[in-house]
Amino acid sequence: MTLNVLSVASEAVPLIKTGGLADVAGALPAALAPHGVAMTTMLPGYPAVIARAGKLRVVHRWDSLLGEPARLLAGAIGANKLLVLDAPAYFTRDGGPYGDPAGKDWPDNGRRFAAFGRAAADVASGAVKGQRFDLVHAHDWQAAMALAYLRYAPFDPAARVPGVMTIHNMAFQGWFEAALFDRLELPRGAWSIEGVESYGGVGFLKAGLQLAQMVTTVSPSYAAEIRTPEGGMGLDGLIVSRGDRSRGVVNGIDIAEWNPATDPALAARFTARTLGKRAANKRALEAEFGLDPDANDSGGPLFIVITRLTWQKGMDVLPEVLDHLVGNGARLALLGSGDASLEAALRSGAARHPGRIGIRVGYDEALSHRMQAGGDAILVPSRFEPCGLTQLYGLRYGCVPVVSRTGGLADTVIDANPAALAAGVATGVQFSGVNYHGLAAAIGRTVALYRQPEQWRRIQRNGMASDVSWSRSGGEYAAIYRQLVAEAA
Ligand code: ADP
Repeated sequence: MTLNVLSVASEAVPLIKTGGLADVAGALPAALAPHGVAMTTMLPGYPAVIARAGKLRVVHRWDSLLGEPARLLAGAIGANKLLVLDAPAYFTRDGGPYGDPAGKDWPDNGRRFAAFGRAAADVASGAVKGQRFDLVHAHDWQAAMALAYLRYAPFDPAARVPGVMTIHNMAFQGWFEAALFDRLELPRGAWSIEGVESYGGVGFLKAGLQLAQMVTTVSPSYAAEIRTPEGGMGLDGLIVSRGDRSRGVVNGIDIAEWNPATDPALAARFTARTLGKRAANKRALEAEFGLDPDANDSGGPLFIVITRLTWQKGMDVLPEVLDHLVGNGARLALLGSGDASLEAALRSGAARHPGRIGIRVGYDEALSHRMQAGGDAILVPSRFEPCGLTQLYGLRYGCVPVVSRTGGLADTVIDANPAALAAGVATGVQFSGVNYHGLAAAIGRTVALYRQPEQWRRIQRNGMASDVSWSRSGGEYAAIYRQLVAEAA
């Protein structure tokens, strides 16, 4: 029997993306299709979504969705179904999905994403003719209120369906002042510790975690970390209380979109058998970042970094190790956007090392592909990382991941320790301690490995052979959906 699942997310490639959530939400429908799941993705109608979505038709209207008129539009992303919540008062504005053009959060984010959740719950509980679902899969706090409306105010209680809540990053919880509650059109009973109340306010993610039939996060290690005070960020007690209703399912990547053998963004396409062709991509990358060419690869590795410039990603530590990196004969090409002070620190490091360190500030998808194809090693020094995708792209492109031992980074990269090297299974480098010493040691180890070309190629090939696709995790999600639907029957 085909299961119909409504995947509710605030971003999804190829329509709108600010981070890994978009890659995952965009990839899930194709990942689930082989497992008998027909997934429809529901997104807010930001201008970019409506402009890029192609043909959309109106399938439902709300006179008042938490006080504002709204329409539901239906269309498709590729082979998969798409629903868009067109609510101009909430979503038609310049800037990003969550903030103004300067990056400041919209002051009405609580209402905006409560309305999104309300609409999703309506759709899932029978308000829209022709739309029928067996289960709702809500991603992150922006979608979490769907589960609160399903529990407390479904359009048709008889049509209520189970819900999965996936945490892509516990650091973003969607917490709002208690005054918001009166505008949510929820019954008084929802204002409780079993409902949406959290630390004296309204907790969107908290509500989802409380009310979902299953909580998942995007790697087994992160699932364990969020049970601790350090990783749980105030919600660890709740996660622990969910027992085996809280699990880790590691993210995959879209291996068609990220395929070095066919990637149109590359100067030269290659496979694990034709690694020599990577050189052309490296030369192109050196030119693009104004780095000294290293025509016969006799120097150290060319590191790359592709990231949001934030504390989470260790980008305050990176500037401290630039001298060490260059002193070891390595070079660095960095693509990032985010915190202006981190950007300034990186720029001043680059200015000290012309030809050795190149910085590109901005968001550039095609460049990120070229970097994975031309870089020798991708550095991911995150303080915490629910899953992380850039190390998976690195594995796929023969760009050896050098990662801190946390969350999904720990789960997806096999450290080149003596045992792993002897067994021939290493795929990268892991290190502990996101500080100068930890990073400097990791860079030193990587340079030493790079200078043993046969060893290095083995690590590259192992990475390229590792399964970073959705095939296993798609099956795990499908099994969870089937379990919950069976329980609800
Ligand atoms: P997060 O979602 O926490 O930012 P992930 O590693 O899960 O981290 O996902 C980040 C995604 O965004 C990856 O697809 C990565 O390639 C992409 N990305 C991050 N920064 C940039 C950038 N400046 N330009 C292009 N792509 C970027």
